[in-house]
Amino acid sequence: QKVWILANPPAAELLPDTFSLETRPLPDLQEGDVLIQVEYLSNDPAQRGWMQKDVDPKRLYVPPVYKGDAIRATGIARVLKSKSAKYPEGSRVTGSFAWYDYAVVNESKITGAAIELPNKPYASLSVFGMTSVTAYQGIFDVLDVKPEHTVIVSGAAGAVGSTAVQFAKNVIGAKRVVGIAGGAAKCAWVKQLGADECVDYKDPNFAANLKAALNGEFADRVFENVGGDVLNATLPLVKRFGKIAFCGMISAYNGENPNVSNLFEIITNRITLQGFIVIDFLGKWASAVQNVAGWIKEGKVAIDDVETVVSATIEDVPEKYKLLFTGSNRGKLVTALVAK
Ligand code: NDP
Repeated sequence: QKVWILANPPAAELLPDTFSLETRPLPDLQEGDVLIQVEYLSNDPAQRGWMQKDVDPKRLYVPPVYKGDAIRATGIARVLKSKSAKYPEGSRVTGSFAWYDYAVVNESKITGAAIELPNKPYASLSVFGMTSVTAYQGIFDVLDVKPEHTVIVSGAAGAVGSTAVQFAKNVIGAKRVVGIAGGAAKCAWVKQLGADECVDYKDPNFAANLKAALNGEFADRVFENVGGDVLNATLPLVKRFGKIAFCGMISAYNGENPNVSNLFEIITNRITLQGFIVIDFLGKWASAVQNVAGWIKEGKVAIDDVETVVSATIEDVPEKYKLLFTGSNRGKLVTALVAK
């Protein structure tokens, strides 16, 4: 087994010595264990939060990744050997794995069989996985978006954001959906997915452009993925008694961009802020996925080209992960693990 471990928990940016690759012997299978070969790894900004320096486990929603631990990651794997009645040899499964090529894991780490779609063997990590369910929870449950709403979605060309845009516009039919993304090409894609407008936050006139994109209205609802400057430009544009769902804050995960000076807007305009975590939605997970499948069939949610799939040997896994923070992905960033 080759496995990446957390060698030096990062205080800010991920550094060359943050991770180290170890070779370890595989243990024998006990009752309930399977030997897996990892095929696909999900790249999630959240993983960065689990491995921070001086983390207080009481403030996290899952156990942290401590110094010396394998880097936890959701993945899809093939079962090569099995002592589990649930997951026989040859089955493809999804679950909570790590940055390794092979592993012996207990069946309790497996969440279920991987959903197979033609040309999309990684669907359980994207359209039929946490990505869609997070967007679903934010748009339908937390924000309760209605057809009369004007909605802003930041991180709109990312995995969750691009899905949230489609739910708000194509499923609910919200009056106006404005995406925020980095660069003209990404913004064009967000509009292709259904957004009425998309604003490039890297443009020096971003704040004015965002205001103009709202067509003279304020936003009833905001799906926030980014934080920092992007959130700061959004706050003065939220309608009185409007609501912001805090899904993520990727601009601050590596230590930068903490400044939000417009917080007084929350008071003057009585804005509701609600953070949420998708694990609180486990009970509604299956029905959310079922609804998404229906909307795909109806053509309301796109399934083609909504992921960026990068191939990597186990040695290259950290470098692919870092692409999340350089804006290199459009839609879900999936790593396909290949042999050397
Ligand atoms: P994304 O695909 O959106 O993440 C990568 C994208 O984030 C990049 O392509 C880039 O897009 C943008 N980005 C990266 N760094 C910055 C930065 N410094 N400033 C602004 N934008 C940046 O990942 P996901 O869709 O998986 O996650 C989106 C957000 O949702 C994250 O904050 C994540 O933590 C959160 N999340 C929360 C969950 C929950 O349960 N609450 C569950 C899943 C995700 P661009 O080129 O446009 O800058």
